Amino acid sequence: MSDIPFYNPVSLNNVIALTDQLIEIAAVAGASDLHLEPFPQSMRVRMRVDGLMQLLKTPFDQLPAPTADAIIVRIKLLSGMDISESRRPQDGSFQWQLNDKWVDIRCSSLTGHWGEKLVLRLQWQQQNIDITQQGLSPEQLETVNCQLRKPQGLILVTGPTGSGKTMFLYSCLKQIQTPYINTVSAEDPVEIALQGVHQVAVNNTINLSFSHILRALLRQDPDVIMLGELRDFDSADVALKAAQTGHLLLTSMHTSSISEAMHRCHGLGVDMLALSYCLSLIINQRLVRRLCNQCKQSMSPPQLAAMGSEEWLEAVASYNLCFGVVNLCVPVGCEACHEGYKGRFGVFDPMVMDQYKRDSVAQRRVQELKGESGVWRQGLWRVLSGHTSFAEVNRVTW
Ligand SMILES: [Zn+2]
Repeated sequence: MSDIPFYNPVSLNNVIALTDQLIEIAAVAGASDLHLEPFPQSMRVRMRVDGLMQLLKTPFDQLPAPTADAIIVRIKLLSGMDISESRRPQDGSFQWQLNDKWVDIRCSSLTGHWGEKLVLRLQWQQQNIDITQQGLSPEQLETVNCQLRKPQGLILVTGPTGSGKTMFLYSCLKQIQTPYINTVSAEDPVEIALQGVHQVAVNNTINLSFSHILRALLRQDPDVIMLGELRDFDSADVALKAAQTGHLLLTSMHTSSISEAMHRCHGLGVDMLALSYCLSLIINQRLVRRLCNQCKQSMSPPQLAAMGSEEWLEAVASYNLCFGVVNLCVPVGCEACHEGYKGRFGVFDPMVMDQYKRDSVAQRRVQELKGESGVWRQGLWRVLSGHTSFAEVNRVTW
């Protein structure tokens, strides 16, 4: 990456400069997480970019233990942690500036066999949460907007960890938020501060759980409620009651398919009949890496011919140009990207509820519940339009 600052060996002893350099490398690379892991004689530094782990190069791949320890102490100080305590896990946070942008950094420490490990989560303040930029097709955008305009109901976003559910929920909140509706949220934690939304964070130290916050929020005259995640019976029960009593409720669930989400709801003890009447929209979501526009190459005719399976040809035939003309591309890799990819976008498979689907939910015939075409097929269309690769879609949709 050309933007990585030049490493000056003179600053090796300067722990402050080295720490700054470390955070700057992660920030410039657009990393979501930075891992500082103790090894017997040194420290390994890795970062997660576009969902995948990368090793940091010299000098951070061979920092001697004393320097590594000093960096750990420096970051713990910045995060407001107790530097004399290394046996108990700790959490902290600080803000850091890169040029004119600010990044919120949440830090967590946990000591293992080889010593104390720090993981830093980098959260940019100026994130793009415009709903039109998330990756929805024009038709899907209209579907989502139509459901967001309804005064009550339940919108559920599903997908595995790291599939962009929270960002999508934020983009929905931003889309519907006006001075004329009361928008509130219960989150764990608040990841992006949204002006005009009353956001409340779960706080286990004072026993403030999702269900406690939801009950309190319901007494605050809300119109739209965002519940970060549906994860236990209590919060699911209050959420259902909210959705049944004139509120629009947006929430997410860590499951990889729509039918699995319904299984999970049943497992939590949710009243499936009540759920079937509340649900208005379920969206299954994934995040795929975007092919780098500077180096991606169109596929040659022999490469295309090699992909002539029946399923593939059928996908091409049913492709409706909603994401652009057919132009299959392969990743190459250049100075501006990592292995041919740069950035990510969402792939969505929405399912709008109708009477048949409500019956399926109520009677737990959940295997019948499917979105528009399945998230894999939705990804395939983005392959056809040259936005991502076949391998990438397979990697995230498994
Ligand atoms: Zn590139």
